[in-house]
Amino acid sequence: MRIIIFGPQGSGKGTQAELIARRHHLPYISTGDIFRYHLKNQTELGKKIGVYINAGKLVSDDLTNEIVKNRIDQPDCAVGFVLDGYPRDQVQFDFLYQLTKIDFVIVIELIDQEAIRRLGGRLACKCGLSYHLDFNPPKKTGVCDRCGHALFKRDDDQLEAIKKRLAIYHQETEPIFAAYLKDGILYHIDGSKSIEEVYQQIEKIIHQNS
Ligand code: ADP
Ligand code: ADP
Ligand code: ZN
Repeated sequence: MRIIIFGPQGSGKGTQAELIARRHHLPYISTGDIFRYHLKNQTELGKKIGVYINAGKLVSDDLTNEIVKNRIDQPDCAVGFVLDGYPRDQVQFDFLYQLTKIDFVIVIELIDQEAIRRLGGRLACKCGLSYHLDFNPPKKTGVCDRCGHALFKRDDDQLEAIKKRLAIYHQETEPIFAAYLKDGILYHIDGSKSIEEVYQQIEKIIHQNS
C-alpha cells in the first residue's frame, strides 16, 4: 500500500503518517526528516540545503527527487510506504507519477491560523516523532517516548518561516491535487479533531477502499 499524506504545515501529517506506518507495518518516509538528518550531520548534501531549510524555502527539485527515488528503491519499500512532505510541486509530482503508482492520497485540512498555533508548541525528535507541549506531551518532559533522545524546537518553526512554508503549500502543492482527484484516489480529512479522531478518519478511508 502506497500512501501520501498532504496538509498544511502543522496539520498533523507527520503525526498521522507515523501512526499509519506503524499500524500497517510500512516505512514512513519524510523528506523533511531526511533533509534534517543531512543538515545535522553536515553531509555533502547537508551543506547545500541548510540555507533553504532554515529560511522555509524549498530545496531544489533535482536534489529532492533523487533523495526520494533512492529511498523508494530500498527493499523495505517493496511492500509500500507512507510518504509525508513529497511531492510539493508540479515537477516533483511528475517525477513521482512516472516512478510509482499511488493507492491513497490523504489531505488533512486545517486553517492556517490553527496550524500556526500548533507549530508554536511543537517539539520534534530526530527519530521523526513529533510532540506538542499541550496537545501531545511526551511522558517525560523534553524526552522522546520511543527513542529516548532529547526533543528540540525546529529552527524553521518561527512565525516568518512558517508563513512562508504555508504560502508555498497553497501556491505550489495544492494545485497538484487535481491529478489525484482525477485518478479517484484523493480523500479530504478534517484535521481540526483530536489526533485519535483524525487517525480514525484515515483508517476508515483505507478500510473502505482496500
Ligand atoms: P505536520 O507534519 O503536518 O507539520 P505535525 O504532525 O508535526 O504536523 O503536528 C504539528 C504539531 O501539532 C505537533 O506539535 C503535534 O504534536 C500537534 N498535533 C498534531 N495533530 C494534532 C491534533 N489533531 N490536535 C492537536 N495537536 C496536534
Ligand atoms: P514542513 O512541512 O513544516 O515545511 P518538513 O519537515 O516537511 O516541514 O520540511 C522541512 C524543510 O525541508 C522544508 O521547509 C524544505 O526546505 C525541505 N523540504 C522538505 N520536503 C521537501 C520537498 N518535497 N521539496 C523541497 N524541499 C523540501
Ligand atoms: Zn524519538
